[in-house]
Amino acid sequence: MPYPYNGLEPFIDERTMRIHHDKHYGTYVDNLNKYLETKPELQELTLEELLTKHVADTEIRHNAGGVYNHQNYFGGMRLGTSQIAIGLSGKLLQTITRDFGSIQGLKEQFFKSASEVFGSGYAWLCAFSNGRLCVITTANQDTPLVLGLKPLLCIDVWEHAYYLKHQNMRAEYIDAFWNVINWVRVSERLG
Ligand code: MN
Repeated sequence: MPYPYNGLEPFIDERTMRIHHDKHYGTYVDNLNKYLETKPELQELTLEELLTKHVADTEIRHNAGGVYNHQNYFGGMRLGTSQIAIGLSGKLLQTITRDFGSIQGLKEQFFKSASEVFGSGYAWLCAFSNGRLCVITTANQDTPLVLGLKPLLCIDVWEHAYYLKHQNMRAEYIDAFWNVINWVRVSERLG
């Protein structure tokens, strides 16, 4: 993680981050590595290659998906600050404005999608190959890669991502997450 466990306070709490990163994410890393020990022919592939070419393999789908999605999630956040739109400029800002009308338009769509994920999963901001942006949801540890989309940002809405602090109030967590988005990173991912 590019910040300390308490770096997202007060928006995302330290205890949640420690358990989420070290236990939940760590387990996906361990399980993926254990599985790849039995599959030498897959060891040279990137996560993206595993998740497109070998996604029919349930071990890959679950564990490589869990690693990939958590890397996108943890990497898409930055130190907590009240300056919500820090780093949001240039091409990314223009593209969001073109495709959602405004930052507020994106936030509303992202919030709605993240709220509506039934059970465990993620909401994503993605780009089509033509550069147009969209918001989608995925279940469990599925990724947008199988849809041919470029993932720019995700929010993990598995209960482990927010239950300690927010219990059943997922909406509070989505609002808090919006404060710690690393728009510079999102911009780099858009390219
Ligand atoms: Mn998670």
